[in-house]
Amino acid sequence: MKITFYGGTETTTGSMHLLEVEQSKVLLDCGMFQGSRKKAYDLNKNFPFDPATLETVLLSHAHIDHCGNLPNLHEQGYEEKIFCTHATRDLASVMLKDAAYIQMKDSEYLHKHGKDAFGPLYDIMAAEKTIWHFASVNYHQKFRIHPSVKVEFFDAGHILGAALTKLSVAMNGKNVEVVYAVDLGRKNLPILRDPESVGHADYLIIESTYGGRLHTDISKAASLLADVINRTSERGGKIIVPAFSLERTQEIVYVIRELKKDKRIPNLPVYVDSPLAVNVTDIFRLHPECFDFETNQLLEQDEDPFGSAECTYVRSVEASKRLNGLPGPLIILSASGMCEAGRILHHLANNCSDPQNTILIVGYQAEGTLGRRMVDGAKEIKVFGDIYRLNAEVVELDTFSAHADETDLVEYVAALNPKPKMTFLVHGEPEARTAFQKALKEQTGIEGIMPRYGQSFELS
Ligand SMILES: [Zn+2]
Repeated sequence: MKITFYGGTETTTGSMHLLEVEQSKVLLDCGMFQGSRKKAYDLNKNFPFDPATLETVLLSHAHIDHCGNLPNLHEQGYEEKIFCTHATRDLASVMLKDAAYIQMKDSEYLHKHGKDAFGPLYDIMAAEKTIWHFASVNYHQKFRIHPSVKVEFFDAGHILGAALTKLSVAMNGKNVEVVYAVDLGRKNLPILRDPESVGHADYLIIESTYGGRLHTDISKAASLLADVINRTSERGGKIIVPAFSLERTQEIVYVIRELKKDKRIPNLPVYVDSPLAVNVTDIFRLHPECFDFETNQLLEQDEDPFGSAECTYVRSVEASKRLNGLPGPLIILSASGMCEAGRILHHLANNCSDPQNTILIVGYQAEGTLGRRMVDGAKEIKVFGDIYRLNAEVVELDTFSAHADETDLVEYVAALNPKPKMTFLVHGEPEARTAFQKALKEQTGIEGIMPRYGQSFELS
């Protein structure tokens, strides 16, 4: 058996790895590369293997850096099944269509300004056709993808439906277990169950996004959020929250609802202004099989964890525009999460110059994004070509991260008994991967391997 690493090797995008068992090829994830336009376009369009020769795709979860290149794979000849959990199937369906829509819009815009040399990576029709190939299974429902390969999904505790994938491969009279733990979540996140132990792995592939970093304790998340809401509310301001439509929005709504119930914040109006977030929230409601004990208990008491009388979901453009005229205090959650596109830009333009307001950053902000510039202390921001003074309070809360931090990562590997024969560190910027490798070595004695793009390893 052989594994070759084709994505997420020096970055956190484009997760894709090829496992070859006898003559059969299995692809672990097919994520979209993001980054500089030309380079990312080439990496996404040109597969380093013939997609028609693949026998199976196993999809870990619905984030675009894990599923976003599936329509290209399908367009270039992959006609077989894409296995994932039920919730991932539903979420990936809306995420892929949304990704196609954004690319088509981007391409239109760039073309109009004489800049587009590439066109969209794929269109909505290609996304639709890909969705037909999803074959969903439950966590722990073992299934066979090859006469000698059985697969089982475990809870990843990362986003709704996310799975850790365990492949049991019959080789030379024994079972060899390969575990794909990308992405790995955190304990005690709202809504989701905690990451599960896979028990044993001969070979482990694990993410390293937060190597070298520790998150603020999740138990402090509600208090920190309450402080920001109370402070802004007392001065009559608006709280503008740029939030990823998938998972982060639902988590924040969930915590706000709890805070209101416990009377730790005033009963101020909350608006979720993102059509994608509205679709995603509807999918959350369909998948109680992914919820933790507390969320399921709420449902049994007939309460809706994702919306109360005070939470309004906004779909239409007209309703979104009406939010501009509303007086504070109120909370608006909108996308995109890094303030690079979408309705959040209108809310920032309308509200960033008023010192009564707060811009609350709750997700990872990549270098070069508007979100990053605000966190770094910009005094003014450019939105749709106009300059605005940034007088609003800017607050960053990293407590809601959906990724394991360094301690979680090391603990997860340390709990495997016996130790894996090989541990591959992927899905991390070079600095983070190196930091995780060092911590892993110091605390467990395990030598983590950092594969390069296209590097192969024999597994026996
Ligand atoms: Zn993810």
